[in-house]
Amino acid sequence: MAPIVFIKGTFRLLMFFVCLVFLMLPLAVLKAGGLSNLSEPYLNDKFTVAFLSKDLADHKTLRQVDKLADELNKVVASARRLGIPWEQMVHVRIWEDSSFPVSDLWRSCGLEPDETQFAIMKKQIEELYAISVVSELQMLEQKLKERYPFLLYFPSPSCLSSTEVQLYEGDKFKEEQEFINSFIETLKETINKPLRDVQNHYFFTSESSYSSANCNIWVGRESRDYNLHRDYDVIIHEVGHHLFSQLSSEAVKKNLPERPFANTTLHYLFKPLLAFNEFFADYTAVANGRNMTISVLSPDFSLPEEFKRSFSRKRTLSQFMSDADDAGFQKYFFEECHNILNPTRYFIWRLRLDLDGETADKLVLSAARNWISNFVKVDINEYERVEDQYNPGSFLLIDYPSDIASINLRFLKEIQTAASFLDTEQKVIFNRAVEEVYGQ
Ligand SMILES: [Zn+2]
Repeated sequence: MAPIVFIKGTFRLLMFFVCLVFLMLPLAVLKAGGLSNLSEPYLNDKFTVAFLSKDLADHKTLRQVDKLADELNKVVASARRLGIPWEQMVHVRIWEDSSFPVSDLWRSCGLEPDETQFAIMKKQIEELYAISVVSELQMLEQKLKERYPFLLYFPSPSCLSSTEVQLYEGDKFKEEQEFINSFIETLKETINKPLRDVQNHYFFTSESSYSSANCNIWVGRESRDYNLHRDYDVIIHEVGHHLFSQLSSEAVKKNLPERPFANTTLHYLFKPLLAFNEFFADYTAVANGRNMTISVLSPDFSLPEEFKRSFSRKRTLSQFMSDADDAGFQKYFFEECHNILNPTRYFIWRLRLDLDGETADKLVLSAARNWISNFVKVDINEYERVEDQYNPGSFLLIDYPSDIASINLRFLKEIQTAASFLDTEQKVIFNRAVEEVYGQ
């Protein structure tokens, strides 16, 4: 019997190690490599966070990055609870200077920039040249941008000709292949160079911003004294743009299934909804944080009060419009896409107070889904389209209403439709807030 017990024991032990190896595999993938400043990038299947600097990361900064990852995980959980799609990863890059080696950018996405990685990239770029349908080409480029979100561009037929894509075969393809090879060689040769020396190949922005094309959020830091905590709301605002982009993509897939839309095309298509996109991003920060104001003011630079986008500040539509009319040359600040929905910000704040946060979240999300899908189903057929010459297949809607009354009342219309799920008592509260903010 002893050998059987031994075999059983050995088998169990073996299975234990097999399971352990499988369990360790994702960890091995995620821990692809630390950064040159000895910080570890945070990676999961929804987002990555990395702190990039030439100097060693100090303990305080590392703790702040961990805290940011915690905050982002809370946003992931609330998006999941509300049923908001999160199909593309988003990459948050806190950068201190532009002197860190660009290999950090690869590792911050869990990619080791070795021969195998470059061979994969070369093959993926070459595949672009075998496609002649613009929309399919854009979708394949999109996949490349998602895999290498830190690169500024890829050699592709569309970057050579913005209006026409042809099949690249024979000698014609050989020429392009040389171009691809030199692109890959440059990336290899410059892999340990500081970002500032290879900016023409790598994507970054100096201000906090979200780029929907490659789902990047860059957060610049002016000095070491700057407290990252102050940026959490702004970073979550940028994540709100990512969620808006995911909702837009969802609506397009559902309502226009016959053609794929890459992120860049979606960006142009949804430009008329930019004010609502800014509102939605602010709301994401407010709903996931503790602040009532999304302040984009840096300490030494002051802008008019209206730029603070305060949810708790009382703003009725009629008062806001009359203030805008009295503002003279500063009327621009009232009509600017970040501020134009300030009365609606107050309306939503009232709903959060008078109903509750969870109901307000559902109402805002449902209003967003209504507006976005009506935009895709109805609006894009009602307004004149102008082809965007720099992005084939994309068009802009000119004449889409963008004045203060139209934008605020359009939101009201969509949220009134969304409010059908409220019970009688909640509807009374909802209508009271409508009257207070949008009534005459
Ligand atoms: Zn924004």
